[in-house]
Amino acid sequence: MPELARQLKLDEATLARTVSDYNSACGTGRFDHTVLDDCATTGLTPVKSHWARALDTPPYFAYALRPGITFTYLGLKVDEHAAVHFGGKPSPNLFAAGEMMAGNVLGKGYTAGVGMAIGTAFGRIAGTQAAVAASSEARHALA
Ligand SMILES: Cc1cc2nc3c(=O)[nH]c(=O)nc-3n(C[C@H](O)[C@H](O)[C@H](O)COP(=O)(O)OP(=O)(O)OC[C@H]3O[C@@H](n4cnc5c(N)ncnc54)[C@H](O)[C@@H]3O)c2cc1C
Repeated sequence: MPELARQLKLDEATLARTVSDYNSACGTGRFDHTVLDDCATTGLTPVKSHWARALDTPPYFAYALRPGITFTYLGLKVDEHAAVHFGGKPSPNLFAAGEMMAGNVLGKGYTAGVGMAIGTAFGRIAGTQAAVAASSEARHALA
C-alpha cells in the first residue's frame, strides 16, 4: 500500500487509514458478483451496499479516477413538436432538445444511447419548429 500511494502521489498515511477503515467495515457476507449480494460495509459513508470485500491480499493495482458530470437530468417539459410547455400550454416560439428535456423520455431511468438520441432527434424537430415559428413571425411583421 505505501508503494502504491507513492506511485499515485497520494499521502501514504491517509491511504493506509482509508483502506484500513474500509477493511474494518467489510462484513462476512457471501460474495457473488452475479447478484446484489449481502457483502455490505457497516459504518462507512457512503455505504458500499454490495460486493464489499476487504483489500488485504497483495499485489495491489490502482488507477486514478476523478468525478465528472455526464449530463444534466430532467428539466423542461416539451411536446412532440419540442415546444416547451408553460402552465400546460406549448410555447409558440421556445423549443428544447437534448438533456434539458430529458425528463420527457427518462422518467424511469437511463437506457444506453438515449443521451445522444434525444439531442439528435429532438434537435432536428426543435430546429425545424423554431424556423417555422421565426418565418411565421417574420410574415406577421411584414403584413
Ligand atoms: C463521458 C460521457 C460519455 C457519454 N456517453 C454517452 C453514450 O455512450 N451514449 C449516449 O447516448 N450519451 C452519452 N453521453 C451523454 C451525451 O453526451 C449527452 O447526453 C449529450 O451530449 C447531451 O447533449 P445536449 O445537446 O443535450 O447537451 P450538451 O452537449 O451539454 O450541449 C449543451 C451546450 O450548451 C452550451 N451552453 C451551456 N450554457 C450556455 C449558455 N448560457 N449560453 C450558451 N451556451 C450554453 C454548452 O457549452 C454546450 O455546448 C455521455 C456523456 C459523457 C460526458
